[in-house]
Amino acid sequence: MTQTLAVANQKGGVGKTTTCVNLAASLVSSGRRVLLVDMDPQGNASVGAGLEKNSVTHTNYELLMGEADASAVRCTGLTGGFDLLPANGDLTAAEVALMGTGEGRDKRLQEALAPIRDDYDHILIDCPPALNILTVNAFVAADRVLIPIQCEYYALEGLSALLNTIERVRQTVNPTLEIEGLVRTMFDGRNNLANQVGAQLLEHFPGQVYRTQIPRNVRLAEAPSHGLAVLQYDRASRGAVAYRALASELLRRQQAGAATAGDTA
Ligand code: ADP
Ligand code: MG
Repeated sequence: MTQTLAVANQKGGVGKTTTCVNLAASLVSSGRRVLLVDMDPQGNASVGAGLEKNSVTHTNYELLMGEADASAVRCTGLTGGFDLLPANGDLTAAEVALMGTGEGRDKRLQEALAPIRDDYDHILIDCPPALNILTVNAFVAADRVLIPIQCEYYALEGLSALLNTIERVRQTVNPTLEIEGLVRTMFDGRNNLANQVGAQLLEHFPGQVYRTQIPRNVRLAEAPSHGLAVLQYDRASRGAVAYRALASELLRRQQAGAATAGDTA
């Protein structure tokens, strides 16, 4: 069964894109078939995956507007071993166009992914830094939401708006949407504040905070400028090791969830 994961937090710069690209490459190294969907008009995931974002013929703009099929938009043969549905600045136009349409505008991504969904074990959706219609499309298409959190003073601010949006989608279009978990990113264990915020997260979200912490690691910041996942750029780096651990934890949780579901079936 394909697991579709939206990686979301309306705060910018918390590590959504870094998590998408590196989790995708790490899942591939565990033998999974992975599709990365770039839903941010900044196109950072597309560039980070090694794509020259202005040279592609089709992007998620055409996908969401119904002008191209997912199989035509999909890029294959990238260095990370995962496939990509790319984006660039055109996606902003899709956002505006969708706001002007009526019913069904939240389901465009879900419907567009349906024909290729079974080609993958995991579909990761990189969300923009906003709770807009692009993010809502991601939540409708997804089974679960993974929330990267940077453990700093304002980390928890805005989290309730994110959770409310998830809840609203659950109550309307996608009743089975669940929170996969919260991931502490750019974590520095020597920093008291980071530890305090980390502890607060554990208290407020018992069982939902990933044990794996992603450390602040310059290799993670350098890799995208080479169009590489950190696994290809420096596989021994702390960043690469952490994202491989995150992928293993995700797979373990998925297996445990499947076993529990089996027990109750
Ligand atoms: P978002 O997608 O949430 O806006 P990004 O993944 O683009 O966030 O990360 C923001 C910036 O921080 C980028 O320049 C990225 O390279 C850098 N970065 C992300 N995670 C780390 C990390 N663990 N260590 C060091 N730099 C990081
Ligand atoms: Mg991003």
